[in-house]
Amino acid sequence: MSETMNQNLDPDNLGFDPDQLRAKYLAERDKRLRADANEQYQEVTGDFSHYIDDPYIESVIEREPLTDVTDVVIIGGGFGGLITGARLREAGVKDIRIIEKGGDFGGTWYWNRYPGAACDIESYIYLPLCEELGFVPKEKYTHAPEILQHSRNIGNKYNLYEKACFQTEVTGLEWDESESLWIIRTNRNDAMKARYVVMSNGPLNRPKLPGIKGISDYKGHTFHTSRWDYDYTGGGPEGGLNKLADKRVAIIGTGATAVQCVPHLGAGAKELFVFQRTPSSIDVRNNRPTDPEWAASLKPGWQKERMENFNTLTSGGIVEEDLIQDGWTEIIRNLISMANFRGTDLTPEEAGRLMELADFQKMEQVRARAEELVNDPDTAEALKPWYRQFCKRPCFHDEYLPTFNRDNVHLIDTQGKGVEAITEKGVVANGVEYEVDCIIFATGFEVGTDYTRRSGYDLTGRDGVKLSEKWSNGVRTFHGLHTHGFPNLFIISNAQSAFTANFPHAMDEQAKHITYILNYCQNSNVKTVEASKEAEDAWVDEIISLSRLNESYQASCTPGYYNNEGKPNPLSAQNSAYGKGPTPFFRLIAKWREEGTLQGLNLSA
Ligand code: NDP
Repeated sequence: MSETMNQNLDPDNLGFDPDQLRAKYLAERDKRLRADANEQYQEVTGDFSHYIDDPYIESVIEREPLTDVTDVVIIGGGFGGLITGARLREAGVKDIRIIEKGGDFGGTWYWNRYPGAACDIESYIYLPLCEELGFVPKEKYTHAPEILQHSRNIGNKYNLYEKACFQTEVTGLEWDESESLWIIRTNRNDAMKARYVVMSNGPLNRPKLPGIKGISDYKGHTFHTSRWDYDYTGGGPEGGLNKLADKRVAIIGTGATAVQCVPHLGAGAKELFVFQRTPSSIDVRNNRPTDPEWAASLKPGWQKERMENFNTLTSGGIVEEDLIQDGWTEIIRNLISMANFRGTDLTPEEAGRLMELADFQKMEQVRARAEELVNDPDTAEALKPWYRQFCKRPCFHDEYLPTFNRDNVHLIDTQGKGVEAITEKGVVANGVEYEVDCIIFATGFEVGTDYTRRSGYDLTGRDGVKLSEKWSNGVRTFHGLHTHGFPNLFIISNAQSAFTANFPHAMDEQAKHITYILNYCQNSNVKTVEASKEAEDAWVDEIISLSRLNESYQASCTPGYYNNEGKPNPLSAQNSAYGKGPTPFFRLIAKWREEGTLQGLNLSA
């Protein structure tokens, strides 16, 4: 057991008043609740579609439209698609095609090349297939270029470039009943066919803009962080934004992305204005190079063990040893030490109370850190987050807060109200217009909108039923992976499946499950595999009833994409992840495989 786990904190002597904190959190949440919730954002289509042009491709690939037949088509060349491709290859599947909108593999890491981008989960568990590639990342939290290169290395190792179609956007899928094949149409006029389709569109693939009045009036330069314009800023992913030296720059948003790029903008820009609606929680990063001796000492199976250790800890489970030892797992270390102090078996209510105290304690540390690192007391105060640590994606950074000590960097805190307007010349907040040469939107990605809107295509399944129609009253799946009426189709996503802080872990579990089913079908001459209606109905009911476990926690949180911008609706429960948490979900699907009966799936020969 680690040293920190043995501190045995006294939960009744932590130096803060839980009632006061609870009341403060609710008051801060209430400032931010708004009736338009998810509708407040501007979809990146029409006049705004240039925000998602690909700035990274060197030349447009010319090719003839394809009408060929492939065994497995995977939509999306990010981690989900790559891991599935790799697991299928390991199982002997030869004919695989990945279709990818970008110019290369990488997904999130293809698009997000902003300065300072790095993984915020330990890279030894975040980068998939490290053992398979005989690779240990350079740093504990490695930077984006290494992650992008790792994605390419997976593509090469598993021969996934062979049939890949890059710069290709799927526009629609139709099930051809007579041939039991999917027809996949794309913006390249393809009508390719596939026996099986895996959709791995990514959970955060569609950038969004705030629906701020006047957003199209602005005459200066603008871009979204997921399409960083290095031609304009100069420099590269490591920083050095030298072309901003004479520019006044605004960045809107202070989420996980902004936290990583603001230090570089502060260093490069003549003046930087950071427009904040809700501060992020910024804990210690403590990044460090990988110790080569440690890397050499790793035993086979190390990555899986480490991933499972992190996953158990961050989803509230208890393990003997914390292998990760970082800010993500610290809250649980505190909880365990409080439980040790109590010295008895905890009831679920007592565990919940201690969890809340551990959370308060963690956030008190985070707030004290803002005071410690930021010189101006008002700025430090404005940078303090008032919500529970996992209400928003927690951030870990050692340079973000000190950036606000620079004379050229100005925090424009809006007290939860956000930016009021954009004019021809700049940004209006708190009644003041800030004239700027450039506005950078660090405003995140669509999450709560319809699946087919986010994917950019619809599917027509059996009997002409569209997925958008079928899911118009909420997602309907079996295990999050199959949907009745859409045979030979697999979905990699969080909805009705596992939600983990470490997304690639969940993707790998899903990929293994898909591989098991596909392998079974190929070896047993199965023509179609599809969730039965009964199994799907039962799964949806279970998801809804389990999601109640989280309801009050989510309702107490400050708005954000984790809680549908503070406006839970009947669909939030149905569209949520498996409420018992990721580890029980992984166990459940593993047990299902062990049983070997493919219960809940209808197979046709
Ligand atoms: P987020 O959705 O987390 O942040 C969007 C930001 O825009 C928020 O600060 C939001 O404020 C702000 N905003 C929206 N509208 C307005 C407005 N009208 N006025 C002012 N501010 C506004 O997006 P990110 O891109 O930062 O992060 C998205 C996700 O991507 C993360 O949660 C994480 O999962 C992932 N990520 C992972 C990283 C990694 O692994 N290294 C790094 C970066 C991102 P408010 O909070 O009030 O809504």
